[in-house]
Amino acid sequence: MLKFPSMSPSTTAANLANVRTRISQAAARSKRPASDITLVAVTKTQPVEAILEVVAAGLHVLGENRVQEWDKKRDDLAPANFRCHLIGHLQSNKARRAATIFDRIDSLDSDSLAYRLEAGAVAEEKRLPVLIEVHLSDEPSKSGVPESDLDALADSVNACLHLDLQGLMTVPPLLDDVEKVRPYFRRLRELRDALRTRMKLALPVLSMGMSHDFEIAIEEGATEIRLGTALFGPRAKKP
Ligand SMILES: *Cc1c(COP(=O)(O)O)cnc(C)c1O
Repeated sequence: MLKFPSMSPSTTAANLANVRTRISQAAARSKRPASDITLVAVTKTQPVEAILEVVAAGLHVLGENRVQEWDKKRDDLAPANFRCHLIGHLQSNKARRAATIFDRIDSLDSDSLAYRLEAGAVAEEKRLPVLIEVHLSDEPSKSGVPESDLDALADSVNACLHLDLQGLMTVPPLLDDVEKVRPYFRRLRELRDALRTRMKLALPVLSMGMSHDFEIAIEEGATEIRLGTALFGPRAKKP
């Protein structure tokens, strides 16, 4: 595991500058402008002050893992200028609320969730952007559709008129040797490319890469990286 020094909130700006440099260098290696890559600030467990600091520093896309946590924090943030994506596992009984309070759902991984989100989007009279989360490793996980079921799920989502399928997301296994993560990122891009051809959809978004492996993800085509620790320092451990 990479260790990050403990950082006070005032070092967030310095962390952001460092991350931006590394994004530019990785983007150059993948022959793309750094502006092609969206940095999602993962604000789970972070207090409102820390969130306001990154928004003020120019990050306008946030990622949160839990519906209830975001529901509590969001009122204290309004009317700041940002969007928030749900990046954590979504339980079906929270789908209705998630459709209301999130700007995009990045962890859609089942037909039943798609139908519940569709009903929520209908009730909200909005078109809800979504990513399908794909589970690529053999490790057990509560999140993500297996590769073998991706085509069927993509067709179900595409049939939901109030869901806007924008691409794919994955969380690869956490490996000390980040080079070993590269094949997972490459595979997600291949799956996206194949879906794009088959479904004739743009599917512009590939959300992959976290604090310890985002440079590899960018080299493999990530259009969004999700960073928590690299911006804010280590999260407090759950009791
Ligand atoms: C927590 C989390 C992140 C950010 O992880 P860091 O290692 O702190 O950058 C990204 N994506 C998901 C789905 C997460 O749960």
